[in-house]
Amino acid sequence: MKIIAYSSAMFSTWIFSDPYQVMFDAGDGVTAMLQHKIRRIRTIVMTHAHRDHLGGLLQLLNLRGGWGALDVYYPEGSGAFIALKEFTARFDALTAGTVGWHPVGIGSEIPLPGKRDVFLRTFPTRHYPESDSRAVRTLGYHLIERRMKLKEAFRGLPQEEIDALRRRDGKDFVLEEVESRLLSVTGDTGPLDAGIFQDSRLLFHETTFLLPKDQAETGERAHEHSNLPHVLALARDAGVKSLVLYHISTRYKPDEIREAARETAAAVGLSIPIRILMPGILTWDMMAEPDIASP
Ligand SMILES: [Zn+2]
Ligand SMILES: [Zn+2]
Repeated sequence: MKIIAYSSAMFSTWIFSDPYQVMFDAGDGVTAMLQHKIRRIRTIVMTHAHRDHLGGLLQLLNLRGGWGALDVYYPEGSGAFIALKEFTARFDALTAGTVGWHPVGIGSEIPLPGKRDVFLRTFPTRHYPESDSRAVRTLGYHLIERRMKLKEAFRGLPQEEIDALRRRDGKDFVLEEVESRLLSVTGDTGPLDAGIFQDSRLLFHETTFLLPKDQAETGERAHEHSNLPHVLALARDAGVKSLVLYHISTRYKPDEIREAARETAAAVGLSIPIRILMPGILTWDMMAEPDIASP
């Protein structure tokens, strides 16, 4: 899956899945970096209203809106998006008319235009201090493929027999619907339950800090974040197939991040491909980046 991405914690974060035309967050500079590529965007999903995630949304909507309809989805309890929606309508009525704004809650499903078997589903994250789930203000997103698969009981049968069963009892008798998580994007979050990411093919997990003590040193206690040992252990426990670390603090240098990821992966016993979205570096094809095991 081709993914273009940029992230440095505190300043700007966005992730664009090109084949599915989905933008996850819209940090400062996203339009200037993507330029004409923004025409490809059909759906924008926002994890939360912190400025490093939404700072580029106004400019993106103004320019992209001129090229046709698109939709923005945001956590339902977040007043910042309602304010931005109202401001956009007054500021630039022409393009604002092409943008659909949609509040979403936990477990909401989001259809993708022109994609029948692939959709998005939200999951709860832990970033704001309030634990009041009635007003959801932070969310993560799974990109999910839904397809029909032969039921366990019929696997190994000759095709003619399966066809006969299907004719006699209908396709629902022999087939069942299965979902695969093609991509999961956390946005900013503290530790989550591994079950949320079970078997995800690709997990983009925020990794603001390399060490737990680094967060304590910042004195930043109001908003929960994740650190490297926790993220790698979670990826192991969830059985994810491939991992990208992003939203990394600019305090760390690339060599230091790579080395820490290698050591920690060995320590927790995680041997899947792990890639690093280096802070402050625009990456045009995330999955073509070398994984940490490469020399
Ligand atoms: Zn952030
Ligand atoms: Zn945040």
